Amino acid sequence: MKGHISTEKLAALNEKYLPFAEFAQELEDLTDYPPKFHFSAKDNICATGFQARAGSRILEGYRPPFDATVVRKMREANGILIGKTNMDEFGFGTFCTNSAFGIPRNPHDVERSCGGSSGGAAAITALLDKHVALAESTGGSISCPASFCGVIGLTPTYGRVSRYGLIDYANSLDKIGLIARTSDDLKRFLPIISGPDKKDPTSIVQPQLQLGGFKVKSVAVPEEAMQNLDPAVRTAFEAALEKLREMGIESHRVSMPSLGFALAAYYVLATSEASTNLARYKGMLFGVRGGHIDQSFNDYFSEVRSANFGKEAKRRVLLGTYTRMVGFRDRYYLKALAVRQLVIKEYNGLMEHNDAILTPTMPFIAPRFSEIARMKPLEVYQADFLTVPPNLTGMPHLSLPCGYHDRMPIGMQLVAPHWEERRLLDVAGRWCSGFDIRFPEVSG
Ligand code: GLN
Repeated sequence: MKGHISTEKLAALNEKYLPFAEFAQELEDLTDYPPKFHFSAKDNICATGFQARAGSRILEGYRPPFDATVVRKMREANGILIGKTNMDEFGFGTFCTNSAFGIPRNPHDVERSCGGSSGGAAAITALLDKHVALAESTGGSISCPASFCGVIGLTPTYGRVSRYGLIDYANSLDKIGLIARTSDDLKRFLPIISGPDKKDPTSIVQPQLQLGGFKVKSVAVPEEAMQNLDPAVRTAFEAALEKLREMGIESHRVSMPSLGFALAAYYVLATSEASTNLARYKGMLFGVRGGHIDQSFNDYFSEVRSANFGKEAKRRVLLGTYTRMVGFRDRYYLKALAVRQLVIKEYNGLMEHNDAILTPTMPFIAPRFSEIARMKPLEVYQADFLTVPPNLTGMPHLSLPCGYHDRMPIGMQLVAPHWEERRLLDVAGRWCSGFDIRFPEVSG
């Protein structure tokens, strides 16, 4: 049957690949696809009927009594929410290994990571036909997993999509976007989730979303982005540049010195914001309650947080509290804000002579879990050096599959000026008509 998915099928897929933190126990059949369609939401996006735990034990049992604006809009457009997808705790991670409710496995090779933090969203999109995932990116959490799982990830301009009902990681960076299998799906669902929403003031002033009317002719490729790449990624990316040239898109090698500072600035800003956001989880308002209410507030608060935050969340609270402290604020937080402005300026400068900026998405193919276990936190952060910079600027970006190595997908990332999602849709449409995206053989 067209678009048919049963709960048994979801259960079987979840046993093998763990894309879901929770999935629907009753599913309406898709005999009339379209207009009806199935979608999933990352676990940090609130939806009635499901828990919203953002990959964290501290939110165990939290059932939001409302829909996030994006979920409401998808449901109003005939969407059926089939589940909440696994993610790194609060979005803190690059491999989805910091997820409290199951570490998703890459559908192309179960020994490898799906990427993070929207790992479950990318995995389920690679596994299910006619599926679109609502995902979220703060510093690359849509591009990275899309690239590792060989699907398409679209991160819209900051403010294009309402964040109402999103569990915050870092408010000045968070964006809700889509992970899809086809460029047609991006065109279909982006207008549904976009637009001003009174409940999110950063979405109010936005130019109308346009879906066409722009043909991309040139892209800038920063030299700095071509360093420290795995040879397989470099080869696939260079072959993709050649294909783009045949499609009428020239690439220009440029220099972008700020790429060298963007990563450090991001981790200062993101952890600073995250450490204040996490203060609301104290075992009183949402999720778990502490056992001993007869102690002082500080002891109660510390006990609940020590028991329920994961290691990476604790590391980020420490880092972010430190960078905001009197005496360090000037040296770290304010300096990082200045770097952020510099990055935006450089992107804008390059966009004056090029329609978009193109780099590989990740410096390597999806790593094995055994390799990730040996990586130090700093090495994990460094893996984000290409996905973090566009997120700092708030510009829309897209990760597209561009090649394969050892059966594993490789992605490229295109960045467009603010509000110019149509340039990304243009390239996505043209690229997909000439490139065969390989989906894994699903045995689940
Ligand atoms: N890997 C990045 C981080 O851990 C990005 C995460 C995200 O975009 N949510 O901060």
